[in-house]
Amino acid sequence: MPQRQQTDILIIGAGFSGLVAAERFCNAGFSCTVLDRRNHLGGNAYDCIDSAGVLIHPYGPHYFRTNSQRIVDYLSRFTDWHQVAYEIKSFTQERYWSFPINLNTFEEWLGRSSTEAEWKSWLEEHKIAIDIPSNSEEVIISQVGWEFYRIFFEQYTIKQWRRHPRELDPSVCARIPIRLNRDNRYLVDEFQALPAQGYTALFENMVHQSSGLELRLGVDFSNEKNNWDYKHLIYTGPIDAYFDYCYGALPYRSLRFEHESFRGEELVEREKISGKPGYWQPAMQVNYPDLDVPYTRILEIKHATGQRIDATTIVREYPQDWTRENEPFYPVPTEDSAMLYKRYKELADKIDNVSFIGRLGTYRYYNMDQVTGMALAEAEKLIKKYGAVA
Ligand code: FAD
Ligand code: UDP
Repeated sequence: MPQRQQTDILIIGAGFSGLVAAERFCNAGFSCTVLDRRNHLGGNAYDCIDSAGVLIHPYGPHYFRTNSQRIVDYLSRFTDWHQVAYEIKSFTQERYWSFPINLNTFEEWLGRSSTEAEWKSWLEEHKIAIDIPSNSEEVIISQVGWEFYRIFFEQYTIKQWRRHPRELDPSVCARIPIRLNRDNRYLVDEFQALPAQGYTALFENMVHQSSGLELRLGVDFSNEKNNWDYKHLIYTGPIDAYFDYCYGALPYRSLRFEHESFRGEELVEREKISGKPGYWQPAMQVNYPDLDVPYTRILEIKHATGQRIDATTIVREYPQDWTRENEPFYPVPTEDSAMLYKRYKELADKIDNVSFIGRLGTYRYYNMDQVTGMALAEAEKLIKKYGAVA
């Protein structure tokens, strides 16, 4: 029998949710242990330098954005920021398009210049009247009509989710804004920036500022469940895994990433297409909505990080079914999965000394700022409950 181990707060997962909670507890004087089955900090937000020397986001592009000054103030204790106006494009019909859809996209589609007034009246004529969209198809056609929906959303969504947009909650496609003006920015939030030295550096600073934190990487909690005594467990892994999939597995989408690096002659050749010395494509992200292209997007994160280096790395993102062998990246928001999650949540609510937080713990398509807010709120509530030690 392995010896039982003790800690005040046991935290499963060293991503944003787990490390923010750990930092708060440590600073309130609790002993805290964080386990992660991966060998690095940061969960899906982890970044690192690849073999070409380029700073990459190995689990997909992570664009930090928020409307919460409180979250910015909190995270600024651990990082400076590199401001970025995140811009992406879409590639279909053998050309690059301005995306998210705005007046520039409309002009590209018309093949001539236009005005906000003409675009607005075109939309009034073509958008479908739906008061409260009930799925991801309705959310887009109610804003731009069928034509643009079919070009940019329908096939991309089927490829990404292996479900029709009609089967997905409105919140999935509602993440993408539609604009009347010429604003080409991907996101709408007030604060858009990357940690100046990268996410991993942010997490390392967080750990350094958490006295009494014990970190164990490369440890899977499912093999350790019965080895620990704790006051409270914060669980940021998949909620269904915690309950040994007793009602069946919740559906997730996974991804496969294909990396390719360029320098020298090859890169010079591509500069004719990117229009920017040192870059392979014209924007940090280019989406490929057509179903006959097997990947959904190509990322070249160097556009956003601003790293100065005579090489670049692109990453093709291929959607995949989730199996227990690959990573559960995206909870799939459908009616069935919501009902299954509800059953797990009912089990979770019966356990007093375990909190389920984060994207996987709550089975919600949350961004980094949202899970940071959730972890701060949960830690604050529990520190009150157990009484700050320091
Ligand atoms: P995670 O980062 O998933 O961390 C959970 C950790 O728990 C993992 O490290 C995992 O290894 C560990 N774990 C799970 N089970 C166990 C176990 N049994 N034992 C031990 N450890 C375990 N958000 C944005 O704000 N902007 C973006 O641009 C953005 N882009 C994204 C792109 C992709 C492709 C994906 C998948 C997500 C993106 N996100 C983005 C969302 C962002 O990744 C999440 O909001 C955030 O990382 C969630 O943090 P978390 O700590 O809840 O979960
Ligand atoms: N989407 C789409 N076409 C695009 C971009 C997005 O249909 O060119 C849909 C797709 O269903 C996607 C969702 O909008 O999953 C949210 O897009 P986002 O870029 O936020 O995806 P994420 O970065 O979370 O993968």
